[in-house]
Amino acid sequence: MPRYEYRCKTCGATFEMRRPMSQSNAPAPCPEGHGDTVKLLSTVAVTGTASASARPAPQSGGGGGGGGCCGGGCCG
Ligand SMILES: [Zn+2]
Repeated sequence: MPRYEYRCKTCGATFEMRRPMSQSNAPAPCPEGHGDTVKLLSTVAVTGTASASARPAPQSGGGGGGGGCCGGGCCG
């Protein structure tokens, strides 16, 4: 569920609320009970694993690239 940040114009407090995206524009009362709040920049909650950054390591000796033995530094 996305997390939105709001700021109260009455007391100046900033607070976060987790609500569905369909209710992002709905009024959110501040923790103090004030209703005059504005929505700040939405912070996207990054949840999940960081497995997308794992790239496969190039394996030398495949015989398909035609690059010779330049994989391990033996070509000097
Ligand atoms: Zn307030």
